[in-house]
Amino acid sequence: MPAFPFSLNDPIQHHGPLPKTSDVVIVGAGVIGVTTALFLAKRRISVTLVEKGRIAAEQSSRNWGWIRKQGRDADELPIVIEACRLWKELAEECGEDIGLNQTGVTYLANSDREMAGFETFMKLAGAYNLDTRLLDSGQTSALFKGISRKFTGAMTTPSDMRAEPWLAVPALGRLAARLGVTIVENCAARTLDISAGKVSGVWTEAGRIETSTVLVAGGAWSSLFLRNHGISIPQLAVRATVAATEPMAEVHGGAAAGAEVAFRRRQDGGYTLAPGSHRLHLGPDAFRHATKYLPALMAHPLGTHYSLAAPEGFPDSWSTPRHWTADAESPFERMRVLNPAPEKSGLAAIERGFKRLFPQFETVRLKASWAGMIDAMPDIVPIVDRAQTIPGLFVATGLSGHGFGIGPGIGRVVSDLIQGNAPGHDLNRFRLSRFNDGSRIRPGPAI
Ligand SMILES: Cc1cc2nc3c(=O)[nH]c(=O)nc-3n(C[C@H](O)[C@H](O)[C@H](O)COP(=O)(O)OP(=O)(O)OC[C@H]3O[C@@H](n4cnc5c(N)ncnc54)[C@H](O)[C@@H]3O)c2cc1C
Repeated sequence: MPAFPFSLNDPIQHHGPLPKTSDVVIVGAGVIGVTTALFLAKRRISVTLVEKGRIAAEQSSRNWGWIRKQGRDADELPIVIEACRLWKELAEECGEDIGLNQTGVTYLANSDREMAGFETFMKLAGAYNLDTRLLDSGQTSALFKGISRKFTGAMTTPSDMRAEPWLAVPALGRLAARLGVTIVENCAARTLDISAGKVSGVWTEAGRIETSTVLVAGGAWSSLFLRNHGISIPQLAVRATVAATEPMAEVHGGAAAGAEVAFRRRQDGGYTLAPGSHRLHLGPDAFRHATKYLPALMAHPLGTHYSLAAPEGFPDSWSTPRHWTADAESPFERMRVLNPAPEKSGLAAIERGFKRLFPQFETVRLKASWAGMIDAMPDIVPIVDRAQTIPGLFVATGLSGHGFGIGPGIGRVVSDLIQGNAPGHDLNRFRLSRFNDGSRIRPGPAI
């Protein structure tokens, strides 16, 4: 089955060249790096975005494409509300069809207990005047054509959106380039250059860029990059399998998730499907940070499967070097694109689950399947902060499986942090120091 949506053989779009100096250097061209660059460029700040592989080739093209306010952590909600507005503006500005549509998000409930679990978010939704509402069993059935199961009910937010990630983030990259951002694909950042205790440049595989400001937005690779500079963050990566069906009759125009399968109607008339679980490969970081993950594991015990070791070259593989210098090949250029294989058991579960829900489909024809490594934090919310120990260094990472939708909101916030402006939202929950300052780990909603 072909890998979708991204072909590693597509020609490189952004060749640079690498400038000698730049006001800001951003490491990683996923949705966070790209949107931060874009908002900085709008303020006429010179930005260089270095990407070890291809723009958006990791999580930012492999995700389900949900842009949801529903089910958000209380501190993320105002940022994702802003992000929804920004998505509409950016879709206009980039002048390309990125598949942005307001088709809603629905969570299905199998029990009264699950319905009761929606109450926390319903209160929050009320406080922010969202259109989120609870549905009873009959209303839930009416939302999906031919659904076979009787659900206890559902929570739904009709104003939630979707976009096609593999169209959206590269299109935003092209917009950023038009606004003056220098994007260099196939160019790994190896190390920071630090002089007198603060950032003075970045060493890439193609040479040095002089800068006083660096943002690390490296997705699943951020903790490896930072650790080489003495900054430890308890970030892990879990493998999540996805499949895309051929175009088929519409059963629901939006996105929905139950315990077994999550699905979203795509722009081409097919569905993007995913199973209800993901896999953690146990490596040195998984053991190092295990205790920090206990609260999340206890809150969501069934969502994670485990295997003994990550494939070679993955960020937390046993053989991945933890230290390197600027003059030698780094783990980043050794793995240009983190491209995990989809799991056969996950694909089988997807097909089974979707057919069981919609028995009118005798066959569910999958046209492609892929997987992505979700970068997770113990409390399932990101780090968005400046590093106190290295002036000039900023970190925006660990979006924990829901960074696509909120991406432009985080990008706008980080661009203001970098400029020394008020970020416009309370970022205390997202501080870098929270895992070392004795704070209790308070997990947000599940990945
Ligand atoms: C299967 C799956 C489903 C998901 N579904 C959704 C969803 O429906 N809705 C939602 O909101 N979110 C979803 N997410 C999460 C979302 O995709 C991510 O949170 C988001 O894309 C993270 O963006 P990022 O820019 O932080 O990281 P990434 O997109 O992973 O980008 C980081 C980039 O940094 C580059 N990089 C790393 N280190 C270096 C280096 N040293 N030098 C140069 N480049 C480097 C990498 O190559 C990579 O391209 C999903 C994720 C997955 C995997």
